[in-house]
Amino acid sequence: MKVALVGYGKMGRVVEEVAAARGVEVVDRFTRSRPLSTGDAARRALSGVTALVDFSVPEAVPDTVRAAADLSLPLVIGTTGWQSRLDEVREVAARSGIGVVRAANFSLGVNVFYRLAEQAAKLLARLDGYDPFIQDWHHRFKLDSPSGTALEIQRRMARHYGEREVPITCQRAGYVPSVHWVGFDSAADTIHLEHRARNRRGLAEGALLAVRWIAGRSGFHDFQDVLADLLPVGQDGPSG
Ligand code: NAD
Repeated sequence: MKVALVGYGKMGRVVEEVAAARGVEVVDRFTRSRPLSTGDAARRALSGVTALVDFSVPEAVPDTVRAAADLSLPLVIGTTGWQSRLDEVREVAARSGIGVVRAANFSLGVNVFYRLAEQAAKLLARLDGYDPFIQDWHHRFKLDSPSGTALEIQRRMARHYGEREVPITCQRAGYVPSVHWVGFDSAADTIHLEHRARNRRGLAEGALLAVRWIAGRSGFHDFQDVLADLLPVGQDGPSG
């Protein structure tokens, strides 16, 4: 399998490391000073690539999708913060017929944790006396607060708590990569679920899993669609 990286910063480099360990060839790396182009040379260099993997900056995403469409190459998007351009990106993907997978968090563990949190909320929202809460702890350099992951957990729990907003508390201190807790506290006891990331490798593994999955598919997908194929159990719905 071959990929090309759009964005070669902290995440791009980890994707390259994990790709090497998995026998996936990185054929090219595009950056701010050398963005992805659709000229003949790029077309030749990228022939045979399974997908482009984008961990860059939000403002570059729409142009990258247009270039991927022009090159007829599938795209895995890890870049966050381009929600306001979502409709435009979806439309380009739909019109061109290329496959796109995006996720704000490509960690397999976090994506399983979303489901666990939701299942716990589904059970405990039916009982009186359990107060739900979410906690998010990240290193001192993280700018956004709450994290996108905490917000996604809150969104999923809201399916079971209706109007009642599940509170999030955040800590930005120290060097810990990322920890999320989901708790339910009653007068009798506390139930605590924890996800603790050790490094960025799990994110890169998930992005490469998405590359393998999108090969030969079209349409706009979330990483949850990849996970649904990988783990077709424990989902809401008739068979859940
Ligand atoms: P970084 O600042 O270390 O790297 C950004 C890279 O993007 C740099 O190589 C820069 O040259 C490149 N870039 C800028 N403009 C570009 C353009 N027009 N074309 C191509 N490349 C361009 O950032 P990072 O920590 O690697 O994170 C990148 C993005 O990924 C951020 O949006 C971050 O929030 C997101 N992220 C997502 C996940 C996930 O699981 N989805 C995980 C970690 C980070």
